[in-house]
Amino acid sequence: MTTEKVRILIIGSGPAGYTAAIYASRANLSPVLYQGLEPGGQLTTTTEIENFPGYPEGTTGPALMEDLRKQAERLGTSIRTGIVTSCDFSARPFKVVIEDTHTVEADAVIIATGATARYLGLESEMKFRGMGVSACATCDGFFYRKKDVAVVGGGDTACEEATYLASLCRKVYMIVRKNYLRASKAMQDRVFNTPNIEVIFEHNTKEVLGDDNGVTGALLVGNDGSERTIAIDGFFLAIGHTPNTKVFGGQIELDSEGYIKVEPGTSKTNIKGVFAAGDVKDPHYRQAITAAGSGCIAALDAERFLNGME
Ligand code: NDP
Repeated sequence: MTTEKVRILIIGSGPAGYTAAIYASRANLSPVLYQGLEPGGQLTTTTEIENFPGYPEGTTGPALMEDLRKQAERLGTSIRTGIVTSCDFSARPFKVVIEDTHTVEADAVIIATGATARYLGLESEMKFRGMGVSACATCDGFFYRKKDVAVVGGGDTACEEATYLASLCRKVYMIVRKNYLRASKAMQDRVFNTPNIEVIFEHNTKEVLGDDNGVTGALLVGNDGSERTIAIDGFFLAIGHTPNTKVFGGQIELDSEGYIKVEPGTSKTNIKGVFAAGDVKDPHYRQAITAAGSGCIAALDAERFLNGME
């Protein structure tokens, strides 16, 4: 086991991690950033991005993340690849073990490991990811203007995404496996009062259909065994996200869904010197720009902590 000592360790390489790195670098904190299994985070699974400020012609997820990485690197962040396999936040310096072989001792840690959208696990769904299959209506809905789409799920996210898509698309199907929506009453009312949303209760998706140009439909199977095909151009998953916090369990306070709890309006966790940014602490907004903003907040909180200002 090798050991090194750093002032600030950033775990995660999405917009939150890179933005924290940019700010920490400029504060002369010589940050070390570890990127995990999905360098660049969830955005690298998106194609076009039109809602990140500063790109008048739009950009792509991978290009945006590459720009953020280069910016962090140019300003002095040491970017490494490796999975965190354990950590010890019980005393300072904090100890974070990478791949069971290397220990990083850090005076401050920023956790920006993100969340992973849940998928149904169908082969056809994987095949058309980025070609009509998406787990983010806010990111990709715009590309389906005046087209027909489907949203899978019956929670608040599914209802919110369905109503958002209904404002852009011709028709939105909601595919719900139970005979009721789990969402709050207010969200349900919005769905039921939107004329171009059709809720298909008690159905699951058997297969996403498509051709070389992308998604063309979905084959649904009812709880009674009957099959039905719908013609759609976009297939949106809204069946929840899983925050990537497994390795921090027992070390840091998480909510019932596994998201890191922070002091409202800050990045401060229950451990002084450990901060959280981005989707790993945000089940609601989940946008690249909000993650980036929270990465900035985490770096500023960490800087104040390291300078003994709190
Ligand atoms: P939820 O866990 O609340 O809902 C997930 C939905 O997906 C459920 O309807 C569930 O069905 C369905 N689902 C799960 N797995 C499958 C599957 N394999 N096949 C088909 N359907 C499936 O997740 P959300 O992302 O909607 O919400 C997460 C949290 O965030 C909630 O607490 C929610 O209230 C909150 N939220 C609040 C918002 C707001 O207040 N504006 C907006 C968005 C989220 P089933 O019901 O059968 O389990």
